[in-house]
Amino acid sequence: MSKIPLETPLGELHGVGPRFVSKLNKLGIHTVRDLLWHFPNRYEDWSRIAKISELKSGDAFTIRAKVTEIGVKRAWKKRMLIVEALLDDGSGSIQATWFNQPYIKNVLKPGTIANFAGKVALRKNKLYLSNPTYELNVGDSSKHTGRLVPIYPETKGLTSKGLRFLTQPILENIEPVKEFIPEKILKEHDLPEVNGALHDIHFPDKLSETQDARKRFAFEDLFLLHLNNIILRLALFKKTSPKIETPENRTQEILSGLPFELTSSQKGALDEILADMDKSHPMNRLLQGDVGSGKTIIAGIAALIAAEKGFQVALMAPTEILARQHYKTLLKFFGTTDSGIGLLISKEGRIHYGDGLEESVAKPALMKELAANRIKILVGTHALIQKNVNFDNLGLIIVDEQHRFGVAQRAALADGKGKIPHFLSMSATPIPRTLMMTVFGDLDVSLIKELPKGRRPIITKIVAPENRNKAYGFIKGQVQKGRQAFVICPRIDPSEGDNLLTREEAKKLEMKSVKEEYEKLSKRIFPDFKVAMLHGKLSSKEKEETMKEFAAGRIDVLVSTSVIEVGIDVPNATIMMIEGADRFGLAQLYQFRGRVGRGEHQSFCFLFAGSESGISYRRLNSLLTAKNGFELAEKDLAIRGPGEFLGEEQAGMPDIAMKSLNNMELVKDARKAAEETLKSSPSLKEYPLLKERLNLFSKEIHLE
Ligand code: ADP
Ligand code: MG
Repeated sequence: MSKIPLETPLGELHGVGPRFVSKLNKLGIHTVRDLLWHFPNRYEDWSRIAKISELKSGDAFTIRAKVTEIGVKRAWKKRMLIVEALLDDGSGSIQATWFNQPYIKNVLKPGTIANFAGKVALRKNKLYLSNPTYELNVGDSSKHTGRLVPIYPETKGLTSKGLRFLTQPILENIEPVKEFIPEKILKEHDLPEVNGALHDIHFPDKLSETQDARKRFAFEDLFLLHLNNIILRLALFKKTSPKIETPENRTQEILSGLPFELTSSQKGALDEILADMDKSHPMNRLLQGDVGSGKTIIAGIAALIAAEKGFQVALMAPTEILARQHYKTLLKFFGTTDSGIGLLISKEGRIHYGDGLEESVAKPALMKELAANRIKILVGTHALIQKNVNFDNLGLIIVDEQHRFGVAQRAALADGKGKIPHFLSMSATPIPRTLMMTVFGDLDVSLIKELPKGRRPIITKIVAPENRNKAYGFIKGQVQKGRQAFVICPRIDPSEGDNLLTREEAKKLEMKSVKEEYEKLSKRIFPDFKVAMLHGKLSSKEKEETMKEFAAGRIDVLVSTSVIEVGIDVPNATIMMIEGADRFGLAQLYQFRGRVGRGEHQSFCFLFAGSESGISYRRLNSLLTAKNGFELAEKDLAIRGPGEFLGEEQAGMPDIAMKSLNNMELVKDARKAAEETLKSSPSLKEYPLLKERLNLFSKEIHLE
């Protein structure tokens, strides 16, 4: 029989039906390679082969027995079909049941001898097998019974049994996979060779064999990620950007015009950014700092310096509210300078010229001013970088709360001479170090470590259910003093769940919804206050309007979903009350809390937990004790995994590498290996197989 090549599309394999193939395709599994690199996440130990007479309740066994009787019945009350069979192996007999798989009656006809594996359970003093896995033609090697059996991450309609059925014969008949990790690296890091590792991760004989195999595949992904990052970095380095030199003493002048002194890490970050801009290859920098650490002013100074040198700057925010806020901040600090500052929001725009005049203009007029280079700094949402927005001489792109920006996107914004703009992103999301090194490894990072002087720490409390009314009383007192409060709920509507729970589950947990809380607070608890609500189902105009009213102090209590998360600056808000706090990630809670404590008044954060389990209490408690966002981020990463962290758009990240992001050693080893490999062969000429694999990998991950 000829061997199966790795790149064979699954549809071309013998005996794999189109329905099965389309299910696999939905998981991103198209070729034999994809299938073999789809790894089990655990194993079931069915290696103990026993006689029926030896079976004990609670244990997992494999038996070999004859089907003596089999029948289907409808479960009493429930609308469910149950197949019941009696199995006999000479030592005794036992009943087996399967739910909702009536076809089994036709497969296991009386007289059939098969292997059955599963957990033995006890009901009415009788042992039985519930939903055992069966295997009919067990030759020399069994796939589903009598051994350690791989369990794959299950997706609708694709069972572990189905995957095993497909994977095992392929593994036995595959063309030997060519090892693409250089041998030297395998040796140095004590990693198994690919063919053995593939066998061991899918069909191990002992659980201990899976460890090395897992380590190898995690290393493999991390190694590829690092290679990808380093190569991206080098490629970007070769491109040209305008060299934007900061005139002597100019920074000092700007700083002396500010109403406050920069913190020392703000100064450090500013120096790093200005030094990058002063080079003729592109800056690719992330400015990281807690909420309220003062990132905007740093970005603003960089923008001003570029503008004064004749370059244009695009400053992008994730929402219109934030774009307005940034625009106002720029005017506040730099409104008297000569540089035209513009704001572009959907169809309308504003332009502020150095003479202090501000004009509201229609989009076409604004476009004209931009093309004529009379607007130097343009603030807006992502609409700023659309095709029809033409900068004359874009030198710097600043993006708030988005980590990366594709090289292709940047190249498209290049000036006529092929110079691509410098790039600076800002983020308040503390990113754990392992993630920073891998997923964001192509970025340079400037870190603002401290908050400006004089900020009072926010008093944070986990509130027990019986103290709810006390908390409301406290809020009442604050509002009467003129302060404002946020109330965050995990869902919008009482008729829905959240991203993890169904409606019924959410209801059972008494998960609070914005609409219910709004009703309750506005009618019963705070009838004399102005209460409003904010959530993602409102139009962006309504949201904008509500936020504006809140910022202007005309709303006392704002009940909201997590839409409030991004950088809103309302110094008069001093209370952040979070319902169902256990439904949110620590890093997210940290972000919520950062919405208060921005002004002169003492601020408070009250956490209400929906469930009282010890775990959620401990988790919330770390919000009280953590020294900074990074510490929380590391904890969050450990508890919830990187998926939560990076969100949907990073789903392209390989699963096994994700899981290994808690392993700093491995991440570092892989980086070292990537660096050494590229040093010894910068274009990977010496490693054609690796090069080929890397090309494939780069296409698979959509990290841009
Ligand atoms: P973030 O890093 O969350 O974007 P902002 O840039 O919005 O924070 O800054 C929060 C507030 O702190 C703003 O009102 C800003 O003007 C002020 N600020 C920034 N730097 C300092 C500083 N060094 N000293 C005092 N206040 C500062
Ligand atoms: Mg900000």
